[in-house]
Amino acid sequence: MEMHKPELKSMNLKELTAFVTEYGQKPFRAKQLFLWMHKKLAASVDEMTDISAAFRETIKNECVYTALKQENVQLSKADGTRKYLFRLDDGNLIESVFMRYKTGNSVCISSQAGCRMGCKFCASAINGLERNLLPSELLEQVYRISQDVNERISHVVVMGTGEPLDNYDNLLRFIELLCGEDGLHISQRNVTVSTCGIVPRILDLANENLSVTLALSLHAADQKKREELMPIAFRYGLFDILTACQYYFEKTGRRITFEYALFAGINDSMEDAAGLARLLSGKNCHVNLIPVNPVKERGFARPDRETVQAFYGCLQKSGINVTIRREMGSDIDAACGQLRKRYME
Ligand code: SAH
Repeated sequence: MEMHKPELKSMNLKELTAFVTEYGQKPFRAKQLFLWMHKKLAASVDEMTDISAAFRETIKNECVYTALKQENVQLSKADGTRKYLFRLDDGNLIESVFMRYKTGNSVCISSQAGCRMGCKFCASAINGLERNLLPSELLEQVYRISQDVNERISHVVVMGTGEPLDNYDNLLRFIELLCGEDGLHISQRNVTVSTCGIVPRILDLANENLSVTLALSLHAADQKKREELMPIAFRYGLFDILTACQYYFEKTGRRITFEYALFAGINDSMEDAAGLARLLSGKNCHVNLIPVNPVKERGFARPDRETVQAFYGCLQKSGINVTIRREMGSDIDAACGQLRKRYME
């Protein structure tokens, strides 16, 4: 990618206005351009028919216009889930998922090509981090999918490959453009950012005056056990994470979702459930239990139904708001970064 050229789709209206005036255009051109990119979801500059051919040429020569190429899509006959593989300008591959719920259409996007957090159960961590995604590359996953299904997207979860809080500035710009009224205007409350627990960035996000939902990947209620699953736990302990989550809740009024993946024989016992209930007792939060998606390189297995139910029951009896994640697209490719990985091989 030509990094020295201005990258149009990551600019906000203010930056875009400065850009067009520099090229001798009237400021209103910026708004036109912005609407073409973020409202009409133009995949190319040539679609922008009310902008002069001459200025379109200038844009094409002087700027980078980010548009993802759809490399592959898998459709689930069972529930309408669609799993997309996109190619970036530099050849990197990322995956995104479209899901239909009663509450609306949801897109799960990747925040990085690869990931450097190194969680032991995760396919995305196996080959490390390639690079951060640009704000435009985060947006494009939503835009291309919305156009492909020809339906409105109401929810976005930043829960695909990568650690969003490890790509903090681009994430913020993404939220600004995605939720702004001249774009898709998605409600901030319908945007969920999932993190493995980078405490200083959680505190930063709490101070941004946003109302996005925070999901915290907990996976263990015991510090030692968490360290064995997630290397980030060595850096930020459970106590500090929970304190940061409490701060996030107080600042934003948004209830935290704790993600807890169940790994057979590792964190799925009744003691584990009781420990989790103790850790979260009295907190205004929500626990989402995720029976693990087995990754063949990782050797983690999914607990049987009874174990999952018993774990769920224990939390519920303790008065904790808990759900079991419904498995979507079970008839298409396995989950969490495995499509991208298989393709790269
Ligand atoms: N880095 C962020 C977001 C991406 S991972 C985070 O850690 O939250 C999204 C979620 O999928 C996390 O909760 C992650 O722990 C979980 N996950 C990763 N691999 C998984 C697997 N094999 N089975 C089930 N959940 C998995």
